[in-house]
Amino acid sequence: MFRMGKEEIDAVARVINSKQLFRINDYAREVDHFEEELSAKMGVEYSLCLTSGTAALISALAGLGIGPGDEVIIPGYTFMATATAVLAMGAIPVIIEVDDSLTIDPIEIEKHITQYTKAIIPVHLIGFPCNMDKIMEIAKKYNLKVLEDACQADGGSYKGKRLGTIGDAGAFSFNFYKIISAGEGGAVVTNNRTIYQRALVYHDGGSAFRPFAKGLEFPIFLGQQYRSNEITGAILREQLKKLDDILTDLRKVKNIFINKLTGVENVTFVRSNDSEGDCGTTLGFAFDSQEEARKFATYKSGDQGVDGWLPIDSDKHIYCNWEPILNKRFGHHPTTNPFNMPENKGRLMDYSKNMCPTTLKLLSQTVFISMNPDWSEAEIDTRIQCCKEALKK
Ligand SMILES: *Cc1c(COP(=O)(O)O)cnc(C)c1O
Repeated sequence: MFRMGKEEIDAVARVINSKQLFRINDYAREVDHFEEELSAKMGVEYSLCLTSGTAALISALAGLGIGPGDEVIIPGYTFMATATAVLAMGAIPVIIEVDDSLTIDPIEIEKHITQYTKAIIPVHLIGFPCNMDKIMEIAKKYNLKVLEDACQADGGSYKGKRLGTIGDAGAFSFNFYKIISAGEGGAVVTNNRTIYQRALVYHDGGSAFRPFAKGLEFPIFLGQQYRSNEITGAILREQLKKLDDILTDLRKVKNIFINKLTGVENVTFVRSNDSEGDCGTTLGFAFDSQEEARKFATYKSGDQGVDGWLPIDSDKHIYCNWEPILNKRFGHHPTTNPFNMPENKGRLMDYSKNMCPTTLKLLSQTVFISMNPDWSEAEIDTRIQCCKEALKK
């Protein structure tokens, strides 16, 4: 969450005054409008707003028809929800390496494809775009579905196309930590009518009783209750209006850092698959050792610190810390645990803490500095000076 204020307060007041807080009431239209506005902004046919990014991933996977017996390839550097969404469908997440862009390594994707692989989930973590050209090429070659996890990349792009709109479907999150926010929230985007309708039905257990159920092209099935509400919808409409300005300002700040630090001795930036489409939330520096990375991240010059952090410390965003998954505990009951399902016998689930050594090495030698779109020029300059000093030492 970067910018929230009067517009959101007025939007919430509007909904409360209308007494129409429930999406499916006749006069409630905030979430409907948000979905239309999101589709327009993203340039897609269909958008579905729901309760969280995890709900978005799960409903999109339901939309894609993923289930027991399927393998879904995901990167070892992502929030754990990417993996749990796959397991929620009864499928097995195949965890693989990232490359020096810190996004899923296309070469490793190809190495892990089996007769059971059904989908790939490239994750645009930290707002860093994945190598979508390569990923789509592989998906086409092996007839795989692509679900983009754009939960940390609301509004970002790859070669001019919005992240989340390149694969078969995309998932966004609007939780507190994301680029735009309603506290909690998420969305699925797709150009595929069947994926949309299946995600729609899955996300709303009561959908059988709703008017749109008449337009469905398949018999209704039951799913979950991930339906959004009008207050969330109203906040998200205001946030969506601010999205492109937030991204412009984040990118501006990040580019000042890059321009002023380029050519400075010892500086290497994390490689980007598309530096223009990058969300600008985070500047990444690559070092040769964890020791050098830590020294840089914690450097202080008077009151001003580099204020960096190492992604190796980011806990549930690295596969080796997904303790329940590494130990194959999922769900509340042994027979609903995908790891125990007979359909999943022989699937790739040989997890271990050091199964992706390249990922761990890269994450331990990287320093991130979080950007703020509202920093003044003077603040940016002081921070850059501090980085320069730190790089000299
Ligand atoms: C935040 C996040 C999610 C889950 O989003 P929630 O809204 O918290 O459920 C999924 N994937 C990634 C990569 C995320 O960063």
